[in-house]
Amino acid sequence: MLLTETSPLVANPLRRNVAIIAHVDHGKTTLVDAMFRQGGVFRAHERVAERAMDSNELERERGITIMAKNTAVHYGETLINIMDTPGHADFGGEVERVLSMADGVVLLVDAAEGPLPQTRFVLRKAFERGLPPIVVINKIDRADARAKEVLNEVYDLFIDLDATEEQIEFPVLYTSGRAGTASTDLNVPGEDLRPLFEAILSHVPPPKGDPNAPLQMLVSNLDASDYLGRIAIGRIFNGRVRLNDPIVVCKLDGQAKETRVTKLFTFEGLKRVEIAEASAGDIICLAGIEDITIGETITDPEHRQAIPYTDVD
Ligand code: GDP
Ligand code: MG
Repeated sequence: MLLTETSPLVANPLRRNVAIIAHVDHGKTTLVDAMFRQGGVFRAHERVAERAMDSNELERERGITIMAKNTAVHYGETLINIMDTPGHADFGGEVERVLSMADGVVLLVDAAEGPLPQTRFVLRKAFERGLPPIVVINKIDRADARAKEVLNEVYDLFIDLDATEEQIEFPVLYTSGRAGTASTDLNVPGEDLRPLFEAILSHVPPPKGDPNAPLQMLVSNLDASDYLGRIAIGRIFNGRVRLNDPIVVCKLDGQAKETRVTKLFTFEGLKRVEIAEASAGDIICLAGIEDITIGETITDPEHRQAIPYTDVD
């Protein structure tokens, strides 16, 4: 279990951090693409590649789509960070880290296939963390869709995984990612994805944390770029960070390493965009910190308080 502590304050009412759980091929990539289009991430001059979430051309050729690990979409004034979760138990530590950034989960299930074992492990971890779920029954346009039965299978799965009473009262969205539509009522055809965005806004709480407390950011993921070097990805649990700020990396071996913020990014669609400042509740990238690794905490130099991190899996 990854323990993360935050203040009970709402860090930012205009943020939502949600992890998506889906069996391969149930339509995650297509649905998130439709969210990008409708959320207005793609500006008029940008061409929307079909299934833009595919981060790897080769995978696309094979017809396997791999969603980018971190993406974000604007819906009105709110920025929704969407984190992909790995498919299986082999990545237990990674699952915990991704879920530690999230305040809720979207379980995406194919309306014909129903819930499959691959999603079980991640869903169990999400329940253990007390994350509220939203259930999306997708591909309702399929001729062989059997949405009602699939919903019952989801209830059975939740009971089997010891979901709490609150977690079982999940909202259900019937979607066609391909058509870019969602509806809360199977008998009422969807027009766009607004019902899904609205469900995220109302059922996933805004991130907690204190933007005025000393900085604490937990590194949950790594990326690399040829000219930026190692990139640390994580959520700011407390405090704020600005370009050029002196910071300390609380290393896993207990050492503290002083450094400075030279590049700061947030997510927008599939891209990273440079920003000058971020605060509690935000999921950001910091580049240029040598040797930084997953599980380490970035803090204020005056308050070197690491976020407790134990990776039992
Ligand atoms: P992922 O593996 O979960 O990312 O799934 P993809 O988004 O790559 O979709 C897998 C397959 O399902 C592709 O062949 C899609 O064209 C198809 N698909 C995705 N969304 C829908 C949908 O809403 N309706 C139907 N009928 N097919 C879909
Ligand atoms: Mg995919």
